[in-house]
This record gives sequence, structure tokens and C-alpha cells, in this order.
Amino acid sequence: MLVFIAAGLFLAALGEIGAGLFHDTRSEVLTGLCLLGGAFVTFLIHVVVASRARCPLCTIPPLLKKGCQKSRKAKRFFGSYRLRVAGGILFRGAFQCPYCGEPTKLMVREKPLGGIDSQLGGTEGSGLR
Ligand SMILES: [Zn+2]
Repeated sequence: MLVFIAAGLFLAALGEIGAGLFHDTRSEVLTGLCLLGGAFVTFLIHVVVASRARCPLCTIPPLLKKGCQKSRKAKRFFGSYRLRVAGGILFRGAFQCPYCGEPTKLMVREKPLGGIDSQLGGTEGSGLR
């Protein structure tokens, strides 16, 4: 989802910079540059957070754009595989990996030493915790 916020900030920055150059006002150009910096920082946060969430079967991060071939069972939402994964995570607590096609429920796993691991995990039907 952060990538869509970054894209919105990027488009707003381009519009603000364009309006600032058209109206020849320095404050609009500076606001546009600040929005551009915010878009860049938001995109970096997205890359760091999304790279940690991996599919438990194929270990590919489903929220990042990879050059791998998608599964035949993979479905899109508004033309985006990542948006479908993000929607599944937010609203159903589960997602289908677009790369291997494996459905995965989100669950909190306990670490062997008693810590709590809140990463993605638990393949449906595998019986593993
Ligand atoms: Zn997978």
C-alpha cells in the first residue's frame, strides 16, 4: 500500500512543480520538491517493509515487483498482483502468492525461545505452525 501512497505523492509533486513553473512561484516549486522527497522516503520504507514479508513456500516477497514468472492461478485486482495481495492481507487475513499460487493464512508464530514472531507464515493445509 505504501507504494501507492508514494505514487500519489509523486504525481502530486509533479503537478505542484508544474504549477509552480507555470505560475513562476517559488513556493509551489518548493512544495513540489518536498512532496517529491516524501514520495522517495515513502517508497524506501515500502521496499524495506515489503522485502521482509515473504511467502512461506517460495520465499519470494509478494509485495515487491520481481521479474519472476507468475503462477497460472495468480489473479489481479485493478491490474495489480500486489494490490490483490495487500487487499487480502488487510481484509481477509490471508493471501495467495502470485508467484507460486499457494494460499497462505497470516498467523502469529511463537519463536522456540518464547519470543513472538509476527511475520507472514503458515501455509493452509500443511498442518505446520
Ligand atoms: Zn509463493
